[in-house]
Amino acid sequence: MKQIYYCELCGEPYATQEECEKCEQFHIEPQGLDAGMFVPIAKASTPYIEKIIVRMKDGKCAQYLFDKVVENVEKVPHPSISGKEGDAK
Ligand SMILES: [Zn+2]
Repeated sequence: MKQIYYCELCGEPYATQEECEKCEQFHIEPQGLDAGMFVPIAKASTPYIEKIIVRMKDGKCAQYLFDKVVENVEKVPHPSISGKEGDAK
């Protein structure tokens, strides 16, 4: 049986544990939500939060901007879930 290693953070499959660990070490995990900002109706392009700032484990903060509303989110495969449960056996 062929062993496949899945990155625990992004779900990418790797043939070797070394490659997999390299991917896992590359990612910087979020520590918590720092701020989400609503924009006043006169300036807003969406009623949703337009900007979210996430504090990361390396002490830096990353800013994410609203992109779009997505439909049927439960059908979008989440890599860290689908990778481990589905193909690992
Ligand atoms: Zn990864």
